[in-house]
Amino acid sequence: MSRVFNFSAGPAVLPQAVLVKAREEMLDWQGTGMSVMEMSHRGKAFMSIAARAEADLRELMSISDDYHVLFLQGGASSQFAMVPINLLRGKKSADYVNTGAWSKKAISEAKRYCAVNVVASDEANNFTGIPAFDTWKLDKNAAYLHYTPNETIGGVEFNYVPEVGDVPLVADMSSNILSAPIDVNKYAVIYAGAQKNIGPAGLTVVILRKDLVGQAMETMPAMFDYAIHAKNESMYNTPPTYGWYLAGLVFDWIKQQGGVAAMAEINQRKAKKLYDAIDASDFYANPVVPEYRSIMNVPFTLANPELDKKFLEEAEQAGLTALKGHRSVGGMRASIYNAMPEAGIDALVAFMAEFEKQNG
Ligand SMILES: *Cc1c(COP(=O)(O)O)cnc(C)c1O
Repeated sequence: MSRVFNFSAGPAVLPQAVLVKAREEMLDWQGTGMSVMEMSHRGKAFMSIAARAEADLRELMSISDDYHVLFLQGGASSQFAMVPINLLRGKKSADYVNTGAWSKKAISEAKRYCAVNVVASDEANNFTGIPAFDTWKLDKNAAYLHYTPNETIGGVEFNYVPEVGDVPLVADMSSNILSAPIDVNKYAVIYAGAQKNIGPAGLTVVILRKDLVGQAMETMPAMFDYAIHAKNESMYNTPPTYGWYLAGLVFDWIKQQGGVAAMAEINQRKAKKLYDAIDASDFYANPVVPEYRSIMNVPFTLANPELDKKFLEEAEQAGLTALKGHRSVGGMRASIYNAMPEAGIDALVAFMAEFEKQNG
């Protein structure tokens, strides 16, 4: 068996210890004589797995009893619709910040349900930064404000939480949840597709302030009503049981690493090594304003794009995979989520230096 360093943006690398544990438990979960995949979601065994995962996530993120934690399907993309469907509560417009490709998708989905007020956009700068907060055109009557704390494609990350007073704050944390401590109490809704920092694709985690539940738009599908999922503790229909179980193993792994603060320290160190290597050379470049560089997704370009293909091929041969940048940005992108070991960064930085020496 050989494992590569997988820099995929998502589905992404999982902690090896988690995969080993899942393998050990694959055929017989703790004496039940069956795989978690084969269990009834309403049976005692799965109920205990589900409850433990939720409790561990609550502990890791200090989520209070004022919040529901839901384990849903449909990806972050379904949340682009569920947020307006549930949070408009009779209002006609919502505020959105446009800092990249995922913000834009959230905006275009919201436009099906309400007027969207784009309070700030960095599109004119090709999404390489975040418009200064004092220039945002906030509407104090907005149903909510939606933003994307980490733009996975552009590699742009907020280094602060927008202060929007009484307007409910909604965050798509698909690619940075659990990467650093946050104050959940500042948010109305936090959602994340699991396949970046939590577990396998197919699971979506939603953290939701309880007082906002129960006012979904009428005529919407039951599956899009937070109240129905909350009331049924994410078991209104069959939840993504195996993904939920694996998420639980990942939460447990994060606890063993020392929790989210410890992860953040490692993540900062990993990102710094990579950005330092990029900045120290004229051969590589990252276009993002330094203070808003993502610690999870690091896009970079080669001075000579004709070398891109060679770079990717040789990286692959060196066991460094999925470094191709998103088609909208080009170049390379290294996604360095919690589960990417620091040794992976060291190997990438060494490869980049050698490639530059040979081709620079
Ligand atoms: C990956 C990603 C999404 C899309 O998630 P799906 O689960 O595929 O719907 C949305 N937002 C962000 C920030 C992402 O990184």
